[in-house]
Amino acid sequence: MSNMMRALQKTQAGEGLEMTRVPVPEIGPDDVLIRVNKTGICGTDMHIWNWDDWAARTVPVPLVTGHEFAGEIVEIGRDVTDLSVGQRCSGEGHLIGRHSRQSRAGKFHLDPETRGIGVNEQGAFAEYLRLPAFNVVPLPEAIDDEIGAILDPLGNAVHTALSFDLVGEDVLVTGAGPIGIMAAAVARHVGARHVVITDVNPDRLALAARVADVVPVNVAEEELRDVFPRLRMKQGFDVGLEMSGNQRALDQMVETLTMGGRIALLGIPPGKSPVDWSRIVFKAITIKGVYGREIFETWYKMIAMLENGLDVRGVITHRFDAGAFREGFATMGGGASGKVVLDWTG
Ligand code: ZN
Repeated sequence: MSNMMRALQKTQAGEGLEMTRVPVPEIGPDDVLIRVNKTGICGTDMHIWNWDDWAARTVPVPLVTGHEFAGEIVEIGRDVTDLSVGQRCSGEGHLIGRHSRQSRAGKFHLDPETRGIGVNEQGAFAEYLRLPAFNVVPLPEAIDDEIGAILDPLGNAVHTALSFDLVGEDVLVTGAGPIGIMAAAVARHVGARHVVITDVNPDRLALAARVADVVPVNVAEEELRDVFPRLRMKQGFDVGLEMSGNQRALDQMVETLTMGGRIALLGIPPGKSPVDWSRIVFKAITIKGVYGREIFETWYKMIAMLENGLDVRGVITHRFDAGAFREGFATMGGGASGKVVLDWTG
């Protein structure tokens, strides 16, 4: 292996990313080196590409971006005993500390000192990635690199969808982006009765209907409540999964939830968002914020479901060689795509 590699970097403050050549990372005793085969472009990467206020505040330059990946272990640190060269893997991109109360209690996903690859640390949009062995998730035969590259966002979807018992429940998913669509698919897979997904983008609603057995509703054109009689729902939705960050979507969710309903929030509003708290109180609604994936329970559940019939491949709508990354980002920015996957093997 040459000691230089291709990597997609934010080289300076401002819009865009550049394909550069940088040294292959050196690994420490507890790390592995992964040859990256496929990566997914995330909404987070779009924020970094666009260099919005959040990105400017958060991301150091220069930085190799990207955090959704699958590949193969090509080198292991001297203290790593439970992994081997040649193993296919994906991995958790949140690098946790070991000192917080939460970490020491084994609630790794709640560690306040978490740092993200491709956001705070060198990322996965590169031919090689260094990762702590702790973060590695080996991939079974049934999960190919393409699906391996979207386990991070699928994990967001799984973590959100499994926040509440969905068996026999009527579920509302607001926001038909890739994670919303995957959450809807998970809800069906685990036994929800009806899953209704809302958006105002007809392309995304059409994609949702292709990927999962769900009822798409374009709330720009149709009244959400009009689906109740069609689905023989008497009172309202039992569980809401908010994936859009859109305030009107959240209002509509509170409005159409049944008494004692439950809401998991993954969508991030752009700023402060007014909430009609009295309605939430009088409806006795439970709200849970969701961040990342449970480490590693979400990974375990997700892989088990993928091995047992959960099919989300349809959410990947575009594939590009890493060299054509500009087209990949333009496709993501266009708003009509599902997941966009870059191939680094060429
Ligand atoms: Zn992501």
